[in-house]
Amino acid sequence: MSIFTTTLELILSKILENCQSFCFDKVAPPLGGWDIIIVNHLIKFMLNPRRKIFIGVAWPYVNDLFHIGNLAGAYLPPDIFARFHKLSGNEVLMVSGSDFHGTPITIRASQERVKPEAIAMKFHKLNQEYLKKFRIEYTIYTSTHTNIHKKTVQDMFLRLMKGGYIKILKTKQLYSEKSQKFLQDRYIKGGCPYCYSEEARGDQCEACGRVLEPLELINPISKIDKSSLTIKPTENYFFDLEKLQKPIEKWLISRKEMREWVKKEALGWIKEGLTERAITRDMDYGVPLPTKYISRDQKIENIKNKVFYVWFEAVIGYLSAAIEYSQRIKLPDYWKEFFYSPDGETFYFVGQDNLVFHTINWPAQLIAYDKKINLPKNVFVNKFLLLEGRKMSKSRHWYINTQHLLENYPVDSIRFYLAFNMPEQKELDFRWNDFIETNNNILVATIGNFIHRVITFTVKSFGFNLRFTKSAFDKEVIKNIEGTFRDSSSCLEQGRFKEALKKIIDLVSFGNQYVDKYKIWEINAQNKEKIKAVIQNNIAIIDALRILLYPFMPDSAESLNTLLGYPRSTPLIKGVNNWKFKLPREEIKFPQKMGPLFRKFDKKRVAVESEILGRGNTI
Ligand SMILES: [Zn+2]
Repeated sequence: MSIFTTTLELILSKILENCQSFCFDKVAPPLGGWDIIIVNHLIKFMLNPRRKIFIGVAWPYVNDLFHIGNLAGAYLPPDIFARFHKLSGNEVLMVSGSDFHGTPITIRASQERVKPEAIAMKFHKLNQEYLKKFRIEYTIYTSTHTNIHKKTVQDMFLRLMKGGYIKILKTKQLYSEKSQKFLQDRYIKGGCPYCYSEEARGDQCEACGRVLEPLELINPISKIDKSSLTIKPTENYFFDLEKLQKPIEKWLISRKEMREWVKKEALGWIKEGLTERAITRDMDYGVPLPTKYISRDQKIENIKNKVFYVWFEAVIGYLSAAIEYSQRIKLPDYWKEFFYSPDGETFYFVGQDNLVFHTINWPAQLIAYDKKINLPKNVFVNKFLLLEGRKMSKSRHWYINTQHLLENYPVDSIRFYLAFNMPEQKELDFRWNDFIETNNNILVATIGNFIHRVITFTVKSFGFNLRFTKSAFDKEVIKNIEGTFRDSSSCLEQGRFKEALKKIIDLVSFGNQYVDKYKIWEINAQNKEKIKAVIQNNIAIIDALRILLYPFMPDSAESLNTLLGYPRSTPLIKGVNNWKFKLPREEIKFPQKMGPLFRKFDKKRVAVESEILGRGNTI
């Protein structure tokens, strides 16, 4: 090896200490020799030391407060992912907001005789408040009711039109002569052509579960004015997905890290063949069309009575929210570092019901918008949440009230349970019994007990100040901690949150065995130094847990931070990689008072909660 290489290797080892993104395990055997690889990494580091991670999170309809299924499916995973990347020193831009324009909002508004904006604003605020309570931290949480969003949607539409991706088609739809307007699916009811129930909706029959088209209904009537409906033709703009089938398929196949079942389902849609899909509809509430900029021959009939469909418009919120944030921080081009820079990485987190919109439609919209824009690096889709083996349903009172949950259980216990059972591959079945047992047996008896046992013993035997001896660190312990950082890191990168958490719990089990192996409680004058060395190694594990648990349970990790005498939020220093083993500080000062980190739940709660379930949880 040349001196040049050796020197570079030295520099590189320093870089690797600070920047985790250059994971050498993933580098293929050197083709051009180590010199070239090292130089490449060095140049890359000098140009851009931190990864740029954009995280787009599903946009909730704000016709109600979100429930625990949304939390497990779409909001908690990106928060874990973002915290992990921040701890790794990467730059994170995590965006989302409230979808103001869905029909569930306009329906609730007409039922309550208020404006849709009033309903949307009320639940926008409530959702924001509860997302904060669950410690879901967005860089920006906005809404689809902003001027920036309107402009971005209209701009994308015009570009798609210019690129030849927009078609004009005439379709038949149900019309109310009485109200003089076309009605959307959920505003229509009528007879089900399959089971003859008289209460079928325009999109589905609740009685037999069939998905319906409004025109299939027998004697359709308006839910609003109760009048009988007629069939009328109407013109709308359609997104020509067929034209984008090939590039979407190519992109999907290239997503090596996408969950298998997600990719399979998306490719299934491709196999069936993509067809055009309406992007506008006859409604007066939503993002309006840029009529001024549409040429006369491309204008559809009644263009002023149309708005964009939410499936098309809400996802554009990823761009508009990123742009809005860039303007707020007075760096208008900041969003481009994520969407246009070759180093920008974009990730999306959604629930199963959003799969097609994020694995087919959104990438298609992006390609049609600008071929140079970064396509999703991965789309993490989670399955639904079941409750005691049954599908959750608010109308049947089979759900857990979000407020009730937070009032009775600590946030970290909820976050822990959901992460421990995250529905990445199959539905998560939330069972009260399991929730209480997981909390008591794993969180309290395994993790909490290990930390409590080590620290109380330390304080009792050695006082509140503990000085470390560098030479007393056990190689086996360090190897285990390093392994946990490395393994959990690759799990977290790929959205295997459940597995990452289990690796961290394995480290706790190792710590517990270590305590048992050396029987620290049999301390006496002769073995005091030896026991102190064992303790010191256990403190190193707890010091690592303070980082490792941060993405999953930020409050508890913060308590650990305090317990070990660090200032608040220490691990989250911008640009510093803390996702790795570091020796604890030379001296630790423990606080005079120490309460338990986690609280045990009374098993009787299972009966209490089961009693509430199903009988109308009105809290
Ligand atoms: Zn039916």
